[in-house]
Amino acid sequence: MITRMSSLFLRTLREDPADAEVPSHRLLVRAGYIRRVAPGGYAWLPLGLRVLRKVENIVREEMNAIGAQEIQFPALLPREPYEKTGRWTEYGDGLFRLKDRKGADYLLAPTHEELFALTVKGEYGSYKDFPVVLYQIQTKYRDEARPRAGILRGREFLMKDSYSFDLDDEGLERAYLAHRNAYISLFDRLGLEYVIVAATSGAMGGSASEEFLAVAENGEDTYVRSTESDYAANVEAVTTPAPAERSLEGLPAAQVHETPNTPTIEKLVDFFNAADLGRTFTAADTLKNVLVKTKQPGTKEWQLLGIGLPGDREVDMKRLEASLEPAEVEMIDAADFAAHPFLVKGYIGPKSLKDNGVRYLVDPRVVTGTAWLTGADKDGHHVVDLVAGRDFTPDGTIEAAEVREGDVSPDGQGTLVAARGIEIGHIFQLGRKYTDAFEVDALGPDSKPIRITMGSYGVGVSRVLGVLAEQNHDEIGLIWPREVSPFDVHVVIAGKDDALSAGAEKLSAELDAAGLSVVLDDRKASPGVKFKDAELVGVPTILVVGRGLANGLVEVKDRRSGDREEIAVDGVVEHLVKLVRG
Ligand code: ATP
Ligand code: MG
Repeated sequence: MITRMSSLFLRTLREDPADAEVPSHRLLVRAGYIRRVAPGGYAWLPLGLRVLRKVENIVREEMNAIGAQEIQFPALLPREPYEKTGRWTEYGDGLFRLKDRKGADYLLAPTHEELFALTVKGEYGSYKDFPVVLYQIQTKYRDEARPRAGILRGREFLMKDSYSFDLDDEGLERAYLAHRNAYISLFDRLGLEYVIVAATSGAMGGSASEEFLAVAENGEDTYVRSTESDYAANVEAVTTPAPAERSLEGLPAAQVHETPNTPTIEKLVDFFNAADLGRTFTAADTLKNVLVKTKQPGTKEWQLLGIGLPGDREVDMKRLEASLEPAEVEMIDAADFAAHPFLVKGYIGPKSLKDNGVRYLVDPRVVTGTAWLTGADKDGHHVVDLVAGRDFTPDGTIEAAEVREGDVSPDGQGTLVAARGIEIGHIFQLGRKYTDAFEVDALGPDSKPIRITMGSYGVGVSRVLGVLAEQNHDEIGLIWPREVSPFDVHVVIAGKDDALSAGAEKLSAELDAAGLSVVLDDRKASPGVKFKDAELVGVPTILVVGRGLANGLVEVKDRRSGDREEIAVDGVVEHLVKLVRG
């Protein structure tokens, strides 16, 4: 069936939407693919839905190819299973919760581990039933703190989520690798530029976890890779190599110095270098103590937490959040300082934290035997040679310090370089967190129960569409890869002449009969308007039926390169079929 622009439910916009920060958002709205309904909620108009369905089908094909079976759960779920795993609470403000008319609690599912685990438990019981991989392509809901960039971070979005169930770790490893390979072929088919990086397992627990990040300057995720090895990781997952512990013997005793007006690291270092203590200090010799407060989900109370890190590094809030997940974290403010007078702003040291029962975690570089210049808990005073393991003992370590380009790679090979990306997929060896919660067992050959081990794997289907637009556009519009383009050919009637209409109609019918999908611009608009819209909409091949038709010629335009080619009308259908089928 030929789609006609004269009746297609499409109004392109001249102006960028006011709230659009990134090109994909701007162009998908202007070209009439999506319309905003609420913060993080978008309507799919005909063009958008065509592309979304194509992406969805490619995902489906790749999942089916590894033997995964499609099922579908409701998005509206009862509280109980999520209560059982703790996620009703752990999800915090990210979860949409609601009540039915009887007052029972429900949620709109952010992801479905609980339901898949319960369903497998319900249907399967013998070791002979396993392994099994199930998936769905379904709408997910998350009350994101910062919905942004259109469909890149929605509060309602389409996700493919699959779950593997295995009898043992080797089985889980196999299912994980199968997904990894499926994602590689899937993202390759879509022509996406992406990297695979180590990820945090966060609150989910479990071991191996990797993310697929689409390379994008304006992405929310930062990843690093080694200049020498194949090490690559989301910065949230970078672990700081700890130096070897040192002997405490013979280290000079700690001494407190009066250091007026030194509330910043820079002033402090300058002060000590001017004081002539017989050595030079750098910011890396100072121990900066940053105070934050954390709140566990489901509780109301904020707890103070001290973080000690070398003074040449800032706290990276995303790394800190990832380390403390699922707890919420905020910097302390003036009111907190006022409420806790033992916190002397600019001069906080480990001692008063300990004396006042504040949990104190340090950067992994702060090992036993390292000596620091740090706050003496008294206005205008610092202490030199405060030795870890002798003068203070932290409650543990934490990954909170920024990761910098040029840092040694955690695998010891090369240094790190950083770039930004957008998470499009996440694969995860969950282990038994959910099967333990629901006691999902299979009876083994010896009739003893075997606890099932689980993996979970997600692709952001609607986000992928946004990323495709992000990676495939120019100033004037979208440029779809053929695999997902809403149409194969965009036919433009460039003139008012009836003969042009008749010629274009005939060619469109022939293309359609040859199995290509065609959108025909049969509107009474000027050729200029039609070309602009064709460029905005982004079908990769544009067929222009214009003046040349009288001489038996039409023009084929490549949207990406801008190249135009005059082709004889007689051969153009065959030419286009070849082009599209590759
Ligand atoms: P992010 O770190 O971007 O918030 P996530 O780690 O919370 O993502 P997962 O729980 O791993 O996401 O979900 C699987 C996939 O779903 C992600 O890889 C991503 O592609 C997609 N996704 C997650 N949140 C959103 C969202 N708010 N809008 C669109 N897609 C999303
Ligand atoms: Mg993720």
